[in-house]
Amino acid sequence: VVELKDVGHAFGERTRLFRGITLTLLPERVYALVGPSGSGKSTLLSIIAGWQTPSEGEVVRRGVRKVSWVFQNPVGVARRTALDHVTLPYLGQGYDIATAERLALEQLDRFGLSESAGKRFGELSGGEAQRLMLARGVATNADLLLVDEPTAQLDMRTADAVDQYLGALSRSGMIVVVATHDHRTRDAASDVIDLERYQ
Ligand code: ATP
Ligand code: MG
Repeated sequence: VVELKDVGHAFGERTRLFRGITLTLLPERVYALVGPSGSGKSTLLSIIAGWQTPSEGEVVRRGVRKVSWVFQNPVGVARRTALDHVTLPYLGQGYDIATAERLALEQLDRFGLSESAGKRFGELSGGEAQRLMLARGVATNADLLLVDEPTAQLDMRTADAVDQYLGALSRSGMIVVVATHDHRTRDAASDVIDLERYQ
């Protein structure tokens, strides 16, 4: 559980981003964090993660041992397969290779990547690579998963595909916060945090 208590942030005197955010973030929910460009979405994600201290208010994290990020731009190893990228975090948790690969294939399937499991990272489309980052984020078994702009290059043409990836995120059991411009993500998320309400 992450509790935000009257959180506000400003860079110096000039740039006030938001104020008065009081929220409780719960596991198994997907929060869509929305607001115009420059409103402070990425900043609030890093405050929630504990990477940045808010200039006002307090953030309390209970039972959050591990935090994972999915960044805006996919980063991977060009010659390694999609499967390798998701297997690795499971190996890091101590699973044997057969189990790690089975769990990785399950995650790939949830994100619509079954058929791409054997492709090298460098051969994936932008959208496939971004979905791979989501699958890998879930595979880290973190308590808190912060996702910055996943749909920037997602090749998800239908609302069904958006529902599928948000569903996969919520079933991960983590607290998930997704900063997004995509109205379909906003509509499909279990909760919406609109920074325009906290000006
Ligand atoms: P986008 O949708 O474009 O990703 P955002 O909502 O994520 O935008 P942020 O990246 O959080 O916005 O930035 C909010 C504002 O704070 C921007 O105007 C940015 O220039 C400013 N800002 C961010 N970091 C700093 C910093 N370290 N010092 C001063 N200003 C900063
Ligand atoms: Mg941002």
